[in-house]
Amino acid sequence: MAGPKLQAPKGTFDVLPPEGERRRALARACEEIFAAYGYAYAETPVFEDTEVFARGVGESTDIVQKEMFTFEDKAGRSLTLRPEGTAGICRSYVENGMHKLPQPVKLWYWGPFFRHETPQAGRYRQFNQVGIEALGSDDPSLDAEVILILAELLERAGAQGIRLRLASLGSIDTRRAYLDELRDFLRGREAELSEEVRGRLDTNPLRAFDADHEGTRVVVADAPKLMESLSDEDAEHFEHVRRMLDAAGIAYEIDPSLVRGLDYYTRTVFEFTSDALGAQSGVGGGGRYDGLVEELGGPATPGVGWAAGIERILLAAGEAGEGQSPPQVYVTPGGFALARELRSRGIRVELEQAGRSRKGQLKHADRLGVGWVVLVEEDGLQLKEMANGEQRAVADADEIERALR
Ligand code: AMP
Repeated sequence: MAGPKLQAPKGTFDVLPPEGERRRALARACEEIFAAYGYAYAETPVFEDTEVFARGVGESTDIVQKEMFTFEDKAGRSLTLRPEGTAGICRSYVENGMHKLPQPVKLWYWGPFFRHETPQAGRYRQFNQVGIEALGSDDPSLDAEVILILAELLERAGAQGIRLRLASLGSIDTRRAYLDELRDFLRGREAELSEEVRGRLDTNPLRAFDADHEGTRVVVADAPKLMESLSDEDAEHFEHVRRMLDAAGIAYEIDPSLVRGLDYYTRTVFEFTSDALGAQSGVGGGGRYDGLVEELGGPATPGVGWAAGIERILLAAGEAGEGQSPPQVYVTPGGFALARELRSRGIRVELEQAGRSRKGQLKHADRLGVGWVVLVEEDGLQLKEMANGEQRAVADADEIERALR
């Protein structure tokens, strides 16, 4: 007796053809682009000590407070399925003494991430991100470079309606002083704020900028802006980044209210959105995190990077982007060894393996869109060209390969 049907967990999804091939094509584009800029592939575990994210992403963030899949192992250690990639990469940088390597260390990653969010179009509980990190230098050309790389990737992927927003949060000190100023300002109009924002005034007043609550939005419109309190050094760094983006012809909008949902950012922050997406319009974002490595127990080390959602990139690309290339040749039963021989020459071959009749075989070959069919007959091989129906005897794989050229 058949058991009850099982379903994938809420907020997860299966990647099936042809979607799977579009993903692989995107992965290939990533590899090519990142290699050209000198970023090397790295992997970190899918789960980490909870502390990595609590300290790295920040205790007061939505991610840490509400969205982590946290569990205990049998020894009672608290582990968490990674909600983002940067904290793990920085943990690895410290653990593996990567500060001793020539700097900057440039890495890229790709893989599954987990957040306990309410699922909707473009928002899942298990999703995939691609990201890059450049650690060990605070040169503004790295900020510009990582932005350029994401712009290039999105263009190559065929993502539609892309916009870039940019801001600077200043250095850690600037930010600390500003947070005091902002907190004082918000306290002065506390009654108008949402309960959630009020509850986080001490730990994370910046979240007021993210709120949908009408009263909060009114207050925030008058609030002091971080971009206006940048130190000379921070302002100069930002100016540098802007000049390089301008020279590269990258369009952007300065958005002083841009706060990202992670605590570790300093100086440059940015976000790419797509008008082709609905409410979840963020395609990828990142910024500089000059205090994060130290926060995770390493030497003071600047860093900059971004993460982009694979599903969102593909959604924003719509039907654009490469799919799987169809087979070139269809071989009828009895051609197992011949199919292998053709494949070894780099030809994409589909072998009949479902017991179809000759008529059914030709219909299937037509549906697959192959250019050629090899009919394996008792007295030898026949090669049929699908475009004109012409058929002739061929001796072997050599002759078939020549016909295909
Ligand atoms: P974040 O780490 O929050 O800056 O996210 C970086 C990117 O990952 C976003 O711009 C999205 O493209 C993607 N992303 C974040 N959360 C989710 C999610 N729950 N489902 C799908 N994609 C997500």
